[in-house]
Amino acid sequence: MKIIKFGGSSIANYENIQKVFSIIEQKSEKEAFALVFSAFGGVTEQLLQCANIAQQSEESYHTILQELEKRHLEIVKKLVPVQQQSTALTFVKVRFNELGDLFHGIYLIKECSNRTMDYVLSFGERLSNFILAAGLQAKGIGTSYVDARDLVKTDDRFGHAKVNFKTTNKLIQDHFKSHDDIKVITGFIGSTEKGETTTVGRSGSDYTASIFAAALGAEQVEIWTDVSGVMTADPRLVYTAFTIPQLSYNEAMELSHFGAKVVFPATMQPAMKEDIPIYIKNTFKPDEAGTRISKDSGEGKIIKGISSMDNISILNVQGPGLVEVVGVSQRFFGTLANNGINIILISQASSEHSICVAIASKDASRAKSVIEEEFRYEIQSGEMDEIQIVPDMAVIAVVGENMQHNPGASGRMFQALGRNNVNVAAIAQGSSELNISAVITQADLQKALNALHEAFFLS
Ligand code: ADP
Ligand code: MG
Repeated sequence: MKIIKFGGSSIANYENIQKVFSIIEQKSEKEAFALVFSAFGGVTEQLLQCANIAQQSEESYHTILQELEKRHLEIVKKLVPVQQQSTALTFVKVRFNELGDLFHGIYLIKECSNRTMDYVLSFGERLSNFILAAGLQAKGIGTSYVDARDLVKTDDRFGHAKVNFKTTNKLIQDHFKSHDDIKVITGFIGSTEKGETTTVGRSGSDYTASIFAAALGAEQVEIWTDVSGVMTADPRLVYTAFTIPQLSYNEAMELSHFGAKVVFPATMQPAMKEDIPIYIKNTFKPDEAGTRISKDSGEGKIIKGISSMDNISILNVQGPGLVEVVGVSQRFFGTLANNGINIILISQASSEHSICVAIASKDASRAKSVIEEEFRYEIQSGEMDEIQIVPDMAVIAVVGENMQHNPGASGRMFQALGRNNVNVAAIAQGSSELNISAVITQADLQKALNALHEAFFLS
């Protein structure tokens, strides 16, 4: 039994869906599996856009919503013969009526909470999976639609809900006792104990696949996307990037944590726990081997890959009296955590007089104000300087288990950056010695990535 997941780009239009269906058809003759699909490419973004338009302005979300409905109805009409269309067409129409009501509600109250947003976004996966299940059925491949909200139980941290594995695993195992058809499972979504819709994080469909695989003791997870595996760098930024044949779970987690969006970071955990390998494969080049992620790191250079994130800000706290202030770092990190601000990297300052972290720029002004509030007394008394925010930065990370035995990596990294006049604002090394990361100016990002790629892989 395998769990096979196709991402939004793999099912972005009818032509792509044909490619996906032919992969599924070939497999269905040979092996048992369940499917997980994302929303059709771009749909999540458009639902988000509608919700934002509805709550913010007079401008109308109706055009986008109508286009979305038309797009879904057209896919049904292309995939399912006329005589069998009615169930799927009704499903789509009812969902779009609900969406219309929802957006109107958001428009009236001018507010969309995280909880409402999760409900809005869940329509993307519910629509695509229902339609694709019907499309496969029409080709004579027996399927059943599974709304993951019935099986994946989470807490109520809307937007990035935590899975309750005990309950979830039991529900999944019970549901899979009947083996007669191919289950088509909505990625990305779950629900709370009370039945409220949640999502497990943007691009969380990869994670859904891994959750099901672990619960069922599947033999492998396959994640089908639009590139031939995890590559040595983001191929859109480094044209000479190439596929990494083998990665350890930890290496894959580090690479994705620092921005390699080809696989969602949390995906590795459930699979790793059950020792289930994850394969990253290309829908458009199905014969290419792709990447195997398992407990073995395999052969390789001193590093496995380079990843990066843009739209980063540095948050800097320093001051002459900081050494004397009790529990500065505890209060600092506690305040950020309590306000849900995610820290991407903590820089090891040489002195105890400063703390420097990298965060997403969208969180920067909020982070500044909560930290100022927490340290109001220290700032007023001069023990602490004004909180500093440095915008327009990027984080770049080199990742690989071989670095542990090889002291040369950081030298090579900073030499390459220096030679190319890339100024490094902060550095950090993961405690596991699996990564070295640096904060640089966003404008230097592509140059820096290419310089590092050249230094580590092409020389
Ligand atoms: P899907 O829709 O299949 O989930 P995503 O867009 O989430 O696909 O992820 C695939 C994309 O990730 C690729 O098209 C590529 O641009 C990007 N990407 C970023 N870093 C890497 C990397 N190191 N290796 C491969 N792809 C990467
Ligand atoms: Mg993805």
